[in-house]
Amino acid sequence: MSEMPDPIKNPEIQFTKIFINNEYVDSVSGKTFPVYNPATEEKVADVQEGDKADVDKAVAAARAAFKLGSPWRTMDASQRGRLMQKLADLIERDRVYLASLEVVDNGKPFADAYDADLGEVINVIRYYAGWCDKICGKTIPADGPMFCYTRHEPVGVCGQIIPWNYPLSMFTWKIGPALACGNTIVMKPAEQTPLSALYMGKLFMEAGFPPGVVNVVPGYGPTAGAAIAEHMDVDKVAFTGSTEIGRIVQQAAGKSNLKRVTLELGGKSPVIVFADSDIDFAVANCHHALFWNMGQNCCAGSRTFVEEAIYDEFVKRSIERAKNRKVGDGFQSGVEQGPQVNQEQFEKILGLIESGKQEGAKLGCGGKRTGEKGYFVEPTVFYDVKDEMKIAQEEIFGPVQSIIKFKSIDEAIDRANNTTYGLAAGVFTKDIDKALTIANSVQAGSVWVNCYDPGLIQAPFGGFKMSGNGRELGEYALHEYTEVKTVSQLSIIRNLYICPKSTIL
Ligand code: NAD
Repeated sequence: MSEMPDPIKNPEIQFTKIFINNEYVDSVSGKTFPVYNPATEEKVADVQEGDKADVDKAVAAARAAFKLGSPWRTMDASQRGRLMQKLADLIERDRVYLASLEVVDNGKPFADAYDADLGEVINVIRYYAGWCDKICGKTIPADGPMFCYTRHEPVGVCGQIIPWNYPLSMFTWKIGPALACGNTIVMKPAEQTPLSALYMGKLFMEAGFPPGVVNVVPGYGPTAGAAIAEHMDVDKVAFTGSTEIGRIVQQAAGKSNLKRVTLELGGKSPVIVFADSDIDFAVANCHHALFWNMGQNCCAGSRTFVEEAIYDEFVKRSIERAKNRKVGDGFQSGVEQGPQVNQEQFEKILGLIESGKQEGAKLGCGGKRTGEKGYFVEPTVFYDVKDEMKIAQEEIFGPVQSIIKFKSIDEAIDRANNTTYGLAAGVFTKDIDKALTIANSVQAGSVWVNCYDPGLIQAPFGGFKMSGNGRELGEYALHEYTEVKTVSQLSIIRNLYICPKSTIL
C-alpha cells in the first residue's frame, strides 16, 4: 500500500462539459443533469447532458481522427506508448485530486480510491503503453510460393459504455487496450459518476493526444448510451454494466451495423470454503470478497458456501467481522464502507434484504439503513440461505453476505454452477485436489484459490454464460480491439511458378 496522503475534502469540480475533439463543449440540446454526493445527498455539479446529437459529433471527431494519414494513424506505435506513459504520469501527478473526486462522485472511501482504484488506473495505462509497439501479426507458412502474413489492425471507432462502481478504473480498462491498438474512442461514463472521466479530457490534451482520439460524452443510457450502441459509424461497442442492458446493447449492434460487441456484465459469484481451510483467513477473505466497494462489485463473492463441519463457527466469526466494519463518509479516516451510489441502488438493496427476511433466511447482523442522511446500509449477514431465495439468485450489488451450508464437493460444484451467471468463483482449502477440482469444474471466467479478486491487470477478466462476452485486461483484451487481416502475396519470379488451381480464390 502506498503512503496515504490527505484527501482534498472539497475538490473543485473543474470540468462539467462534453469533451469532443480536444475541446470542452456544451450539449447540443443545452440540457444538463445533476450529479450528487451519495454521502450527503447534496448536488455537487450540473453536467452537460449528451444525447444522440452529441454522440454524432463525437463519432464524427473519432472517425476523422481515425482517417488514414491522420496524425494518430501515422504515429509510430512507440510514440503512442510514450503518450500513454505521459498520461499515466499526469494521472499520478493528480492522483490525490482524482481520488478525492471519486469519493465525492461515488462515495467510496478515499483510501480505497487512492490506493486501489488510482493504483490500478495508473498500472493499467502503463501496462498497455508497453504493449503499443509489441502488437504484431504472424507470417504464415502457406502452400506454394506464397508470402502470407497477418496484420493486427485497429478496429476503428470504439464506443465504450461504463458503469459507476469503479468510474476511473472502468474508464482505463476500456481505453488502455483500445489506445494501445490504435483505435479512437467515444466514451460514455455512467450518469451517476461522470466527473473523473471528464477531468481526463484535460489530461489527454496535456499528454499530447491528437484531437478526436478520445471523446467523452456524459449522459443517460437510453439516450447517449443507446445512440452509441445503434450508431452506424461505430465499429465496436464495449459495454460494462448489467446483464439486462448488455442484452439491449447487443441487440442494438445486431440491428444496426453488426458492430463488434464485448460485454462485461453482472455476476452471482460463489466462494466455496472447505472445512480444512484456515477459518480466520477464509472469514476475512470472504468478508472482503463481498463487502469491498460497498458490495458494488461485479465479481462480488455473493454466495458464500461453507462446508458443514465449520459452518456454525464460520457464521459466528463472519457476523463479528461485519459488525466491526466501519461505515461512514469516505473522507473520514479509517472508514471501510461508504454509502451506496444513489437512492435507487440503496432502495433496491433494502428491498432485497426484506425479501431475505421474508423468505426465511436468518439475519445475523445489519439489515437496515444507517444514519439519517446519505445512502448508507448496515453491513448485513444472512445465514441458512437457501439456493432458491431471491438473495441467492439475484445480484444485490450491496453489502449483504449470504452464507449457505454444503456437505460434499459434488454438491458444492452443482450448486455453485446453478446460476445464469459465470463471472468469478473462489475456493478456500489446503487440499490441492479439491482446489483443482473446483477450479476445473466451476463455470466462471476467473477462479481464485485461497484469495479473492487479487486484481491482476496482466490476466484476462470476463464472464462465462450471461456474465458477458469477450475479455478485458492482459494480452487477451488486445484481441478485442484488433481486426486480423490476412495478406497473401504470390511470388512471381519470371514465370517459373504457375499458380496451382487450389490457390486461385
Ligand atoms: P447499467 O447496465 O444500468 O448501466 C451501465 C452503463 O450502461 C451506464 O453507463 C448506463 O448509462 C448505460 N446504459 C443504460 N441503459 C443503456 C442503453 N439502453 N443503451 C446503452 N447504454 C445504456 O448498470 P449499472 O447499474 O451502471 O452497473 C451495475 C451493473 O454493472 C451490475 O450488474 C454489475 O455487475 C455490472 N458490472 C459488471 C462489471 C464487469 O466487469 N463484469 C463491472 C462493473 C459492473
